[in-house]
Amino acid sequence: MVDRYSRQVLFTGIGKEGQRRLGNSCVVIIGCGALGTIMATSLVRAGVGKIRIIDRDFIEYHNLQRQVLFDEDDIRNGLPKAIAAERHLKRVNSSVQVEGIVADVNYTNIERFVQDADLILDGLDNLETRYLINDASLKHKIPWIYGGAISSSGMTMDIIPGQTPCFRCLHPKVLGRGVALTCDTAGVISPAPFVIGSLQSAEAIKILVGAENINRDLILIDVWEGSFIRFKIIPSADCPSCQGKFEFLDAKFGTRATSLCGQDAVQILNPRIGSISLAELAARLKAVGEVSYNEFMLHCSIDSQEMVIFPDGRAIVKNTSDKSLARGLYAKYIGT
Ligand SMILES: [Zn+2]
Repeated sequence: MVDRYSRQVLFTGIGKEGQRRLGNSCVVIIGCGALGTIMATSLVRAGVGKIRIIDRDFIEYHNLQRQVLFDEDDIRNGLPKAIAAERHLKRVNSSVQVEGIVADVNYTNIERFVQDADLILDGLDNLETRYLINDASLKHKIPWIYGGAISSSGMTMDIIPGQTPCFRCLHPKVLGRGVALTCDTAGVISPAPFVIGSLQSAEAIKILVGAENINRDLILIDVWEGSFIRFKIIPSADCPSCQGKFEFLDAKFGTRATSLCGQDAVQILNPRIGSISLAELAARLKAVGEVSYNEFMLHCSIDSQEMVIFPDGRAIVKNTSDKSLARGLYAKYIGT
């Protein structure tokens, strides 16, 4: 193993002690799109001991333009992103414990996913779950690194509980969907998430090895303009999260039907369903439409509607952004 990491051990910011610390660390990556695949590949290659990757989506052709861990075989095999990432990364570095989890991160499960983490990394495409990470981070005193990329630009900031402003200090107004730009409306070119994912990976290594010069500013980049700007963020005196009021963990703002970024689709989440048998559901749905399934998901088309259902009871209704239509289909075919 010494030889595998020799070039980064030579780097004075890491050294032998830093490498040992990386090997003893546990990192949770939430969201495995462009940012998540960059961070996962960096940290698995760097020898972080344990990496948990959580993502709710399956891979589609329009992901391959920027999501570096995936290929056409993954799509043909119908793999969810978390599973494909785990399989590829285990071939890259078998000494790292890589755990891919297919799940929607929400208030019912986030604390379970992050409880043993030294660091949480944001590879998400939505603001709501970032507020949730923020609450879990502050409550359990686990640092996290915010990152986002869209169009040709991106931003990142380290959030260290008790030391830096938090995400809610940065965005005090809780934005609803449709207010913020998404990959749907603005598009994205790969160098933007590559730069942000790389900055997040560097900060992750710094935090894990105990470096003193961690980034305390909000960094904004634009790869098309070639710009790199730092902003000092002031902690907010009336930030609920910093005062220990974890409104997102308490599901005050939780939603059950959400439009998915980058897809004409709605996700339905039913926290009351713990797990369902895809085989049984397939048998039931075969009477009304076309059904195929594997151990990870079930795909069905009924009339002109397409749905993907996961073993945790979650469903993605495709080709619509109408949440009530999606909720109705879920209630009709899966049950609530
Ligand atoms: Zn705050």
